[in-house]
Amino acid sequence: TPGQPSAEDLRAMAKVGSKKLSERRRAKATFVVLARNSDLGELLFSMKQMEDRFNNWAQYDWVFLNDDDFTDEFKRYTQALTSATCKYGKIPAEHWHQPDWIDEDKARKSREEMIRKKIIYGHSVPYRNMCRFNSGFFFKHPLLAEYDYYWRVEPNVRFFCDINYDPFLLMQDQNKVYGFTLSLYEYIDTIPTLWDATKEFAAAHPEYIPKDNAMQFISDDGGDTYNKCHFWSNFEIGDLNFWRGEAYEAYFDFLDKKGGFYYERWGDAPVHSIGVALLAPKEQIHWFDDIGYKHEPFQHCPQGDAHARGKCWCDPSDNFDFEWYSCTKRFVDMF
Ligand code: GDP
Ligand code: MN
Repeated sequence: TPGQPSAEDLRAMAKVGSKKLSERRRAKATFVVLARNSDLGELLFSMKQMEDRFNNWAQYDWVFLNDDDFTDEFKRYTQALTSATCKYGKIPAEHWHQPDWIDEDKARKSREEMIRKKIIYGHSVPYRNMCRFNSGFFFKHPLLAEYDYYWRVEPNVRFFCDINYDPFLLMQDQNKVYGFTLSLYEYIDTIPTLWDATKEFAAAHPEYIPKDNAMQFISDDGGDTYNKCHFWSNFEIGDLNFWRGEAYEAYFDFLDKKGGFYYERWGDAPVHSIGVALLAPKEQIHWFDDIGYKHEPFQHCPQGDAHARGKCWCDPSDNFDFEWYSCTKRFVDMF
């Protein structure tokens, strides 16, 4: 795939991995975890793997964010798992809760309708807060101000392969803004008017839309309709300054004013995906096809040489990339 590191690059990056911390070139980067205190057990499961596969040598910080105060127990067990620095932050109320200008009657009716239609998380206000926070606010948290790149980690995910190079430096050196492992189709009942809102924004702001963007990934007819493809945002390696930039901020604010995070159930995955596919050149999006990863119910298992290089333990025949419900073929075909 274009944009993937060459064998030579990988050898150079692996050498970097064996150097002492103080001698190694590093990015200003951190892991970011949004979690509740009750997520502790499942989070340790994810974190241990990240430490064993990568961060034991890379030593990037961990930033934990919560709408509530983290307990001492949460802090103690997470910090005990790594020799890197852990930071714990509380999310400002105005970045989390349903804003006053949302019409609660209308929002409630939509939740009731989604319960009737049995839409996953359709009943939940906290889930909507979480999606809106991840879409438009996590990168504004003061604890993230000093960083340029982040890697999002969720509870109960698996990392299957050793990571012998620094993905943050790949992002920085190749001028990438967004990295993913899995992509798929979105459940349209959660975002019925998201594409109309996006088209309205795009028509009003042609100045934000590069010609060589990844429109082909998200639309089969040049932008008229959304094909529902999105990057699965429970794994993301990204450029915080892209989200903090003028174009994405304008896009998020436009969407937020429409109220679809509450009147529908807009997810951060389609919002991030459409945002980056619309507003960045396609070359700035990177498929980390050498990072073995699972979030239920899908997994990406590296194939061929990459499987051996990472000493991966996933079954190579259990790989979602080119299943009918994956969008990754569209991504690859775009280049
Ligand atoms: P799913 O992957 O879409 O099924 O959603 P998850 O339940 O995994 O939630 C996504 C992320 O947000 C995870 O990192 C959760 O720990 C976190 N999360 C979800 N809801 C809340 C919440 O109400 N408060 C906090 N602090 N974190 C949440
Ligand atoms: Mn999850």
